[in-house]
Amino acid sequence: MSRPTEILIDLEALKHNCRLAKSLSGRGNVVAVVKADAYGHGAADIALKIEPEVSMFAISCMEEAISLRKHGVSLPLLLLEGCFSEEEYALASCQNIQLVIHNNEQARLLSRQNLQHKVKVWLKVDSGMHRLGVLPEEVEAVFEQLLASDNVSEIVLMTHLASADSQSPEFTLEQLRRFEKVKSNLVNRHSARIEVSIANSAGLICWPDARSDWNRPGIMLYGLSPLDVSQECADKLQPVMTFRSEVIAVRNIQAGESVGYGNTWTASRSSQIATLAVGYGDGYPRTAKSGTPVLINGQRCPLVGRVSMDMICVDVTDIGMVEIGDSAELWGKSLKANEIAECSGSIGYELVTRMPKRTKRRFIG
Ligand SMILES: *Cc1c(COP(=O)(O)O)cnc(C)c1O
Repeated sequence: MSRPTEILIDLEALKHNCRLAKSLSGRGNVVAVVKADAYGHGAADIALKIEPEVSMFAISCMEEAISLRKHGVSLPLLLLEGCFSEEEYALASCQNIQLVIHNNEQARLLSRQNLQHKVKVWLKVDSGMHRLGVLPEEVEAVFEQLLASDNVSEIVLMTHLASADSQSPEFTLEQLRRFEKVKSNLVNRHSARIEVSIANSAGLICWPDARSDWNRPGIMLYGLSPLDVSQECADKLQPVMTFRSEVIAVRNIQAGESVGYGNTWTASRSSQIATLAVGYGDGYPRTAKSGTPVLINGQRCPLVGRVSMDMICVDVTDIGMVEIGDSAELWGKSLKANEIAECSGSIGYELVTRMPKRTKRRFIG
């Protein structure tokens, strides 16, 4: 018998979410974001499964790109932060890897290469997030430099939205307005159509004006909503990851007895406590508070006491018979990772992405 803690990856749910992203994109393309090992879901398996559905993949660095190539992924790839060193330009050119250019220096380094094949570049505009990108007033100069380079085949104009998931629209409207102005200036000056890319998942779901030639959904592909409120389209997403374990001990304790390290939770009544073979060493957040829901045999029960490295305890008094070997879901289809994130001061993105190696992954469908 091996440790029962595992994550199940439902590839049919992935496909469903991918099709939803595609339908929102209309005639635009889907660039599936599979950075950080596809948000903890396994980049190679995820990419190979949806390769027929999407136009390209985006990752954060060359190492992630090369790993996809080694696993047989053949669609174009996009490095979201561009190259980190000068050697990477030649590699990108041979491996059909496109580059974000987010500053002057990257444009300069690219221009001075002697590349075998031209590369397609994505000129990133800082429309207000102030993390990466060329300021609106400097875009024209960098665009000209890229246009003049023998190493550049095409230029896509891109930006990134800082709060497309927000309930208040003002900031996104301002970013869209600034970006549109940059774009129309370039279009007028060069009298050419310019391809653009704006939307992440929240942009794609909530902002029709952000849907464009190239859409960049990440989290929604994995079935997590980027929003913290219910929304018609986001509610259709199907969670891809199910994090599960099993009960390995059951005991009754009297009122006044406490559970776990530091005795942070004390029973107010005579209670039945189940211990599960999952802890922060398996990716369950240590910051999850007493009361965080856990599904035991499909029923919600509250976490009690501190999360240990290898175990958690759950109060199962109210659900009747619980035995060693009974099934536990930490998050997945019936319990949203976003809800557990809220109970632990995090976001669903982080919980699924930081799953450790120890937790085995099993693909279904
Ligand atoms: C990560 C990332 C995305 C995807 O964002 P989601 O919120 O997961 O959809 C899109 N664009 C860029 C530039 C990113 O870094």
